[in-house]
Amino acid sequence: MNTKTSVLIIEDEKNICDFIATALLNQDYRVFKSYSGTDGISQITSRCPDILLLDLGLPDMDGMDIIREVRQWSSMPIIVISARTQEEEKVLALDAGADDYITKPFGTSELLARIRTAVRHLSGANGQGNQTHTFEAHGLVIDFDRRRIFVHDQEVHLTQVEYKIVSMLAKNSGKVITYDTLISHVWGPYADDNNRILRVNMANIRRKLEQNPAQPEYIFTEIGIGYRMIDAD
Ligand code: CA
Repeated sequence: MNTKTSVLIIEDEKNICDFIATALLNQDYRVFKSYSGTDGISQITSRCPDILLLDLGLPDMDGMDIIREVRQWSSMPIIVISARTQEEEKVLALDAGADDYITKPFGTSELLARIRTAVRHLSGANGQGNQTHTFEAHGLVIDFDRRRIFVHDQEVHLTQVEYKIVSMLAKNSGKVITYDTLISHVWGPYADDNNRILRVNMANIRRKLEQNPAQPEYIFTEIGIGYRMIDAD
């Protein structure tokens, strides 16, 4: 029953595309390659890949348009391949429905970690069991049913808002969640610009969870974009 997970790479820089393809083939994924937006879209519909790796800067199309188009009919994980300096572009891509991003230049291990996270969320989304009611990573335990949090067996008491933030990050562990997504999850879609309040809450959360809040072990800041919870054990 274990069919291979298939990945479509849409990336016009051939050497990057080939580098990714080789890394994935070595890990036993099925790989499809595309060097343009139009061809990419037609491969998405003809090959139905499990996961999409998408470069935003394509010669014939804006990758953002591909995200929007795919999101009209599919929830397949989309990981954006983006250049280092384009923070705003990453935020737009995430808010348009991309699941994650990886910044060029990147190494194989980072790439594979992103894909594994996508695969994990893929099986969760398809309801193939795996719907856990606890989150565990490096001594951090979150019991979603009882809304309790422990760090190395010591219970930690969070406010309601802090718990909402932490549990959303944990349920999406390994993925970056943008500031805006977190804010509208916690305070509602019509919340004012609550960036400052979010930062204050995050500072309090880190004081409670992290051994050294300046060098967090559980919740990482993606500067200009959002926060990312460490992958579950
Ligand atoms: Ca490109």
